[in-house]
Amino acid sequence: MGTTVHRLIDQVARDGDDIVALAQRLIRIPTENPPGEVTAAAAFVAETLEGWGIRPVWHEPSPGRVNLVASLGPGGGRTLILNGHLDVVPAGDHARWARPPFGAELADGLLWGRGAVDMKGGVAALLGAVRALRNADLPGRIVLTLVPDEETGGRWGSRWLLENAGLAGDGCLIAEPSGPSVSTIGQRGALWLRLSASGVPAHGSLSPYVGRNAVIEMIGVLPGILHVAGRRGAFPEELQGILAESKAWMASLAGEAATAALDHVTVNVGVLRGGTKVNVVPDQAMAEIDIRVPIGCSAAGLRQEIEALLAGTGVSVEALDFSEPNYTMPDARVARALAAGVTAVLGVPPAFLLQWATSDARHFRAAGIPVVQYGPSGQGIHGFNEAVPVEHLVRCAQVYAATALAFFDL
Ligand SMILES: [Zn+2]
Repeated sequence: MGTTVHRLIDQVARDGDDIVALAQRLIRIPTENPPGEVTAAAAFVAETLEGWGIRPVWHEPSPGRVNLVASLGPGGGRTLILNGHLDVVPAGDHARWARPPFGAELADGLLWGRGAVDMKGGVAALLGAVRALRNADLPGRIVLTLVPDEETGGRWGSRWLLENAGLAGDGCLIAEPSGPSVSTIGQRGALWLRLSASGVPAHGSLSPYVGRNAVIEMIGVLPGILHVAGRRGAFPEELQGILAESKAWMASLAGEAATAALDHVTVNVGVLRGGTKVNVVPDQAMAEIDIRVPIGCSAAGLRQEIEALLAGTGVSVEALDFSEPNYTMPDARVARALAAGVTAVLGVPPAFLLQWATSDARHFRAAGIPVVQYGPSGQGIHGFNEAVPVEHLVRCAQVYAATALAFFDL
């Protein structure tokens, strides 16, 4: 294997400037989600792939929500899925950026812009790997999937491909930000709820004798829901060591206090609205609540509990997003291949850790496909001044290429 993998790693290094230029081009095509339109970015990627002799398939399940699927290698044998998302979170107030969010400026070894880290940088690195692998003699298939809609749940992206386009594989590598020495292999579940209360309007001067106040109804149910926060997940034995290591890693990134989120239920009341005027009894109130569910806890169970809590009140509930906690063990083929890929490039394997956010990994794992995440790290993810060290981009592309070879035992 040695010579092949090192030839490939050298090839990626020679393409390094092109990989950075690809990331720049992608950042300059805004794909903020919402609204989530990625057509122009997908068209640019399709053209790039065609320039390398690879013809992607274009799936557009909803206008502007474009998925690109490109396959390398013959059918038969194992299939490795490479996945990245083309949408980015909104840049927010441009005046608060030191450099324009869609300028893709290079300065001090950094590439700046919305998506530099999450995850147009990662997408460019995946493309760099695919370019280098396109002439490799593969005993199986590599399927590159570039998707929309990740930042709003994946319904029109990865999940759609799995449910409607026959996407299947024996392992999946997602280019989510992780840092050079870390791969994330597990995540909490998500239960996003919208509560709606309806009341009976009346003149404010008659309350509470006349009318029914929707805001008061809503406030009445919130303490019961907040009460599920802090519940601990029962981690399986096989994950105890990984949990401890993940906590140490999280403490270094987000502070000691944050680490409780890894193994406890968290609850955020993100939106609360109701009423129209001070002297009118409100007939409507609405709340949106983000509940995250640790491994060893059931999101479905929590949902039932909350539905039972609301039964008989004037408050109804709908789920905006739902997933169970999920993970892939480090002995899965795709994880072992990534360990070999990182070792080939950096000399040491990555630590396999748990993330506290969610990603499209949940959709692949729900479909029975083991998933590892590995991608460039940097600053300003989902905030201002997002930037990635350019050398990370090239290194990630090298790791992706080496991982693909190891996945096929090459
Ligand atoms: Zn992402």
